[in-house]
Amino acid sequence: MHRLMRTGIAVVAALTAVAAPVGGRQAQAPAGLSAQERAMADFVDANADQAIALLERVVNINSGTQNLEGVRRVGDVFRAELDGLGFQTEWVDGSSWGRAGHLVARHPADGPKLLLIGHLDTVFEPDSPFQRFERVDANTAKGPGVIDMKGGDVIILQALKALQSAGLLEAMNVTVVFTGDEEAPGRPLARARAALVEAAKGAAAAIGFEDGDGHPDHGVIARRGTTSWRLTVTGTPGHSSQVFSEELGAGAIYEAARILDAFRQRLAGEDHLTFNPGVILGGTSMDFDAVQSRGEAFGKTNVIAERTLVAGDLRALSVEQFERAQQTMREIVAASLPRTSAEIAFDEGYPPLAPTDGNRRLLSMLDQASRDLGLNPVTAVDPDRAGAADVSFVAGQVPMIIDAAGLKGTGGHTVDETADLPVLAIQAKRAAVLLARLHTGG
Ligand SMILES: [Zn+2]
Repeated sequence: MHRLMRTGIAVVAALTAVAAPVGGRQAQAPAGLSAQERAMADFVDANADQAIALLERVVNINSGTQNLEGVRRVGDVFRAELDGLGFQTEWVDGSSWGRAGHLVARHPADGPKLLLIGHLDTVFEPDSPFQRFERVDANTAKGPGVIDMKGGDVIILQALKALQSAGLLEAMNVTVVFTGDEEAPGRPLARARAALVEAAKGAAAAIGFEDGDGHPDHGVIARRGTTSWRLTVTGTPGHSSQVFSEELGAGAIYEAARILDAFRQRLAGEDHLTFNPGVILGGTSMDFDAVQSRGEAFGKTNVIAERTLVAGDLRALSVEQFERAQQTMREIVAASLPRTSAEIAFDEGYPPLAPTDGNRRLLSMLDQASRDLGLNPVTAVDPDRAGAADVSFVAGQVPMIIDAAGLKGTGGHTVDETADLPVLAIQAKRAAVLLARLHTGG
């Protein structure tokens, strides 16, 4: 549920790559690290091959969101790893929201609670041709979910193992949530995300390990929320020769056109706000299959249209912006042309992650950790290029939130999903140092 603007980002990434070695692979002496932090970085380097082997193992287990058993099997692998690190692990069954469920792992201790978020599922179901981890060359591998986001899940484990190796994990208060339905969340959403929201209670910081825009030196401090809407319009049928007459009015298709154009005129161009009608059906009668997002319509050129349906989406950066846009859309819908009526319904959607000072502070801590490791600076990606993801569900509840701390590459949600493998160690080091500093408040 992200990497929406892949093409634009690829250009940005390519330009940046010319300007600076991506991911900080140039040899630089780690400067501002403590002895423990240096030991963690060494641990990550020494265990890079094991981490990639674990990634290969989980990528080779199909866990398309609807493959409930596969999602659970990937969860079992990570559960065993977290058990080995001394976490209390729990599988939260997802049958009440129609999905596999979630893995929740707690490592309670004194000190600030740190929440780490991943997901077990991918968009590639068992009938996809894309099923296996495949090494392309020394530094790249293809595979379903390799960056979105089994790579991020492995980075979480690698950072925790590094913290344990340095003797730090024991005293840390860490909760890990791997959801089982990020790519196609179950409904009702509130139930499907209750375990995540519960796990976030009292957390000082939350970090998502999605792939973000794919750039190794980008983090996410804001994501737009997204919801879908459905507009249904009813007109008064009759002979087309009498359209716009007092008795018959404008008909359902003219009314739908008025509404959509008013959306565009009133709301287009507002920063961070987009809305897009994706499918429209209209005529005398029609039949829309919401699951397949397809349908049929019947009408005659000499009959005024009786029904029109439009389905679209709406994206905004804050709850307030969502509410304002929805209010405007409702007002437009209510101002019906003669002899027509219309209704708009908004689905429950992904909430926005607004850019807060806390989120900025957490990203600057990650950036500092990266520089101290001798790696590239980390900067925030444009929120308009960051799609919705699970961190958004803890927005407003956790004072500091970032995302895109995961494995990077290209082609997410396509059969060309490719990981830049050296980024795995880079991100694990950054995360380990950041978590150690969050624990001590440093
Ligand atoms: Zn993802």
